[in-house]
Amino acid sequence: MEKADVFAMALEQLDSAARLLKLDANTHRVLAHAERALTVALPVVMDDGHIEVFEGHRVQHSSARGPCKGGIRFHQNVTLDEVTALSMWMTWKCATVNIPYGGGKGGVKVDPTKLSKDEIRHLTRRYTVAIMPIIGPHSDIPAPDVNTSAETMGWIMDTVSMFRGSTVLDIVTGKSIELGGSLGRREATGRGVMFNTIELLKRLDKDPAKTRVVVQGFGNVGSVSADLLQKRGCKIIAVSDVSGAYYNPAGLPISDMIRYCSTSKNRLLEGFDAPGISKVSNAELLELDTDILVPAALEKQITIENADRIKAYAIVEGANGPTTPEAERLLVSKGKYVVPDILANSGGVVVSYFEWVQSIQSFFWTEEEVNKNLERVIENAFAAVWDLARREKQDLRNGAMMIAVDRVAKAVQSRGIWP
Ligand code: NAD
Repeated sequence: MEKADVFAMALEQLDSAARLLKLDANTHRVLAHAERALTVALPVVMDDGHIEVFEGHRVQHSSARGPCKGGIRFHQNVTLDEVTALSMWMTWKCATVNIPYGGGKGGVKVDPTKLSKDEIRHLTRRYTVAIMPIIGPHSDIPAPDVNTSAETMGWIMDTVSMFRGSTVLDIVTGKSIELGGSLGRREATGRGVMFNTIELLKRLDKDPAKTRVVVQGFGNVGSVSADLLQKRGCKIIAVSDVSGAYYNPAGLPISDMIRYCSTSKNRLLEGFDAPGISKVSNAELLELDTDILVPAALEKQITIENADRIKAYAIVEGANGPTTPEAERLLVSKGKYVVPDILANSGGVVVSYFEWVQSIQSFFWTEEEVNKNLERVIENAFAAVWDLARREKQDLRNGAMMIAVDRVAKAVQSRGIWP
C-alpha cells in the first residue's frame, strides 16, 4: 500500500468540501496545514541488550475548537504523512459530532508483534516522555488506535504522573476502568459503527434481520461492530484479520470468535474453525455478495482497483480512510452509500470525550448513561449529515465534511490569526 499519498487523499477531501462551502482561500490555506508536528527518535534497550532506535510522531492538526484529540498507533507502516492525515481526519471527526476538540494523532514505526511486552512498555514510556512537551489534558489528549490498548494508555498515564509527581487521569482516554477509564469506552467505536449502520438501514427502509454484513479487521473496532450488529439481528457472513478471512454465508459465531481471540497468539483468528466456515483471501472478502461492508482494518483497502467489484450497497467505514476518493466516486456513481469514517467511527472519540469529562470531574457515569448519550450524539450527527447531503444533493462524505469544515472554519475565523 502506498503511504505517501494518504495526506494527499485527506487534502482532496478538504478541497472538495471547501469548494462546496465556497470557503475563502485564506481559511482554506490554514486548514490545509497541521499546526504542529513533532518527530522523535526513541532508543530502547531490547531484551537481548542491544539498542534499537524507533521513530515516532505526534501531529496536531487543529486546536481551533479545543484541545487536540487522537489516538496513538504502533505499526510498521507509520509515516509522518500518515499521522498528519489521521490528525486532520480527527479534526473533522470531532467537528462532525460537535464535541469541543481539535484533531491530533500519534504513531510509532514498529511492528509490535516482534517485541516482547517489556520492550513495548519501555518503548511506550520513552515515546511518552518524548512527546510530553506537547501533550496535556488541555492541549492534546492521546487515546488508543491500531495495536495500542487500555494497557498502553495506563503506561502513558503512569509515565506522565511520575514526572508530574501526582496522578494525571485526564492526560489520556481509553484507560482501563481501574485507572479512571469510562465504562463503554472499549466498545464505543464499534457501538458507533452499529448505531450508524442502524440509522442508515432505517432511512433505506431495510430490516436488520434481512441484512448481511462483512467486516474487514477483527480488532477493537471490527470485532465489536460485528458482535453488536449481530445482536441487532444482522447476519455477519464474513470477518477477517491479518491471518485471513473467515466466511460462512449462513452466519458466523461471532461471540465464539471473540472468545477465541482473547487467548490466541497475537489475538488473531488463526486456527479458528467451526461448521460451515471456509477461508477466503482478504481481497475476496471485500468483494463478497453482501449488503453492508464494514472495513475496520487500515487505510486504502477499497481502491479504484477493486471498487467496481464491491457488491455491498453500503460501506460503513469503521477504519480511518479505508476508501480512496477515486473509489468512492465510483461507488457513489453506482448508487452505493459510503458512511464516512469521520461519522461512522466517531463513537470512540465521543466516549473518549465522555471519559475526559468524567476524569476532570472525578464523577463517573453508569454504562447505560454512556451508551445512551453516545446513541443520542450519533443519531443527531447522522441526521444532520443525511439531511444536508440530501438537501445539497451530495454524498454522505461531502455532507459530513461540509458540516465539519464549516464549524472549524468558523472557529478559525472567530479567533482570528495571531498576532
Ligand atoms: P486493532 O489493532 O485493534 O485491529 C486491527 C485489525 O485489523 C486486526 O484484527 C488486524 O489483524 C486487522 N488487519 C490489519 N491489516 C489487515 C488487512 N490487510 N486485512 C485484514 N485485516 C487486517 O485496531 P482498531 O483499534 O480496531 O482500529 C482499526 C481501524 O479503526 C484503524 O483504521 C483505526 O484508526 C480506526 N479507529 C479505531 C478507533 C478505536 O477506538 N480503536 C477509533 C476510530 C477509528
